[in-house]
Amino acid sequence: IISVAGVNKWYGAFQVLTDVSLSVAKGEKVVICGPSGSGKSTLIRCLNQLEQHQEGSIVVDGIELGKSESAAQAVRREVGMVFQHFNLFPHLDLVQNCVLAPMSVRGMSRRAAEALAVRLLERVRLGEHAHKYPSQLSGGQQQRAAIARALCMEPRVMLFDEPTSALDPEMVGEVLDTMRGLAAEGMTMMIVTHEMGFARQVADRVVFMDRGQIVEQAPPAAFFGAPVHERTRRFLSQVL
Ligand code: ATP
Ligand code: MG
Repeated sequence: IISVAGVNKWYGAFQVLTDVSLSVAKGEKVVICGPSGSGKSTLIRCLNQLEQHQEGSIVVDGIELGKSESAAQAVRREVGMVFQHFNLFPHLDLVQNCVLAPMSVRGMSRRAAEALAVRLLERVRLGEHAHKYPSQLSGGQQQRAAIARALCMEPRVMLFDEPTSALDPEMVGEVLDTMRGLAAEGMTMMIVTHEMGFARQVADRVVFMDRGQIVEQAPPAAFFGAPVHERTRRFLSQVL
């Protein structure tokens, strides 16, 4: 459902992605890890066109990216994104946070969008908080609300960029549980995270990036058990 081939990207003179190739099958869960500044966020952001690549091709659910603004809009309809900082609108309650995109992008009626929002907030176990404002909730609850908001677009792929790294430790588990649930339902997921326990349990494949390149990718048992590259081993010795 995602095919990245030979992608190069520069910020000015600085090459942030070098010959990145990666494909993700429908229903697959791929964890991306690597040191700070290795290009993980940039790669994820290229997939939903928050950033543009300059060379190579990216195809998401049959949509070739970078060719037109309409491709960018089409792909944002298919791909849900969850960030480190939840980016909820502070002046709207959770339901109203959730209905904006379905109404404006998918043309849903307010009534249908609100019904969907309530259903998905219940699914992330926030039913009783549906009419609270973000500031009235814990970080873990806000992040689960951000996941529900992304799900309201009924995306074919969910991208996560360090969804738990801004959370207090006691709230990490509830967000990972929500993500595990989503994984068990068959969602296609690409997840940038340093939670290696989660990667081991949930990932079909772990991708290690360093300096804008994919150094190594393997199923978790092989990735953690027998990393091939020296850079991967060094990274793992720091995070495990
Ligand atoms: P982290 O683990 O810290 O989130 P990352 O792997 O997600 O790191 P990126 O955010 O993709 O890394 O950044 C890769 C490199 O590109 C970094 O060196 C960063 O400084 C640089 N960079 C990121 N965004 C921009 C930008 N808008 N303009 C210029 N350089 C940028
Ligand atoms: Mg990042």
